Amino acid sequence: MDLFAKCTGWTLAREVMAAGHYPYFMPLDDTEGTEVTIGSRKLVMIGSNNYLGLTTHPKVREAAIDATRRFGTSCTGSRFLNGTLASHLDLERRLAAFVAKEAALVFSTGYQVNVGTISSLLGRADYVITDKDDHASIVDGCQLSLGTLKRYRHADMGDMERVLSLVPAEAGKLVVVDGVFSMGGDIAPLPEMVPICKRHGARLMVDDAHGIGVLGGGKGTAFHLGVNDEVDLVMGTFSKSFASLGGFIAGSDPVIHYIQHHARSLIFSASMPPANVAAVCAALEVMIAEPERVARVNEIADHMRREFRRLGFNTGPSQTPIIPIIVGDEYATFAAWKALFEEGVYTNPVIPPAVPPNLSLLRTSYMATHTDAQMEYVLEKFEKVGKAVGLI
Ligand code: PMP
Repeated sequence: MDLFAKCTGWTLAREVMAAGHYPYFMPLDDTEGTEVTIGSRKLVMIGSNNYLGLTTHPKVREAAIDATRRFGTSCTGSRFLNGTLASHLDLERRLAAFVAKEAALVFSTGYQVNVGTISSLLGRADYVITDKDDHASIVDGCQLSLGTLKRYRHADMGDMERVLSLVPAEAGKLVVVDGVFSMGGDIAPLPEMVPICKRHGARLMVDDAHGIGVLGGGKGTAFHLGVNDEVDLVMGTFSKSFASLGGFIAGSDPVIHYIQHHARSLIFSASMPPANVAAVCAALEVMIAEPERVARVNEIADHMRREFRRLGFNTGPSQTPIIPIIVGDEYATFAAWKALFEEGVYTNPVIPPAVPPNLSLLRTSYMATHTDAQMEYVLEKFEKVGKAVGLI
């Protein structure tokens, strides 16, 4: 059998495209953060992770342009060899200080952070324990590692304890959890997780891709919940509040030093380009200098969540600027997505396997730069479409 036969035989996406309902890989012709243009249509963007609206902030933009002028467009090599600039090290020092850890290490994407960190730390005799709703990059890191993966039911502390109690006492153990779950928008119960980890001698790593910049005054979920000192490793990505591309892991000096010399996704992949590093540094400065942005994105989220619920939508477990609108059936989700799109509202339809069966949803997420008028527009369109497709 020809290896490529499966490709010509795979028609699912083409069928959805032919029906005019295909929502993925859609090119944006223009974007100014809260508003995007697709063809001749302008839409309010409530599908991005640009929580603080910094991708178009003048200081962040200028920093990226200046870095390109000075250092060029790429480092053309790995951090390990020719690809480390003084600005990578400066960023690592600043990030470590920001999240109050001894050291930090920056990778070229958040995905690579999770894959590299988990696979480098887990040896053959070790165990990694994850929440069933953890991000795909955590799952992939576990699969790439030599250790054994065990999963517990989403946010179920009894089940987490049960799973840990089945792991051999002498084994090395790493619990990895999303600080803010990327689809539900709920917050991990870290204060309950910390004592369970301690009881079982497990180390705790928090993927705070959606928490940093948003919770704890921008410092993340562990700060928000008052347990930062009890979290061993904090992971962050630059593709969200930091308005760039890349990611970091922060923790104690010996652990970061070990990851630096063992993570294959760091060593065998080119480093963050100068513009991306400079954008993160500038975004971090703005985040610290303009705390009102962090407050504003949370105010907007609270308002939208309250209003969606008042209209009768199911917003699932959301506690953050990620607000899912649970639809259930995947075809109904595509229909709602398309109707909103035609009304000028950009959302992200999410179907299994990214969410459990029958829990398809429209993922909406907010930015500090959304205006009151944009919020009202979105709510008005949701009410209209929600009624038309029978969601409310
Ligand atoms: N972890 C979580 C929870 C995420 O949502 C994402 C991005 N969607 C990542 C990791 C990967 O980050 P990046 O986009 O920087 O690769």
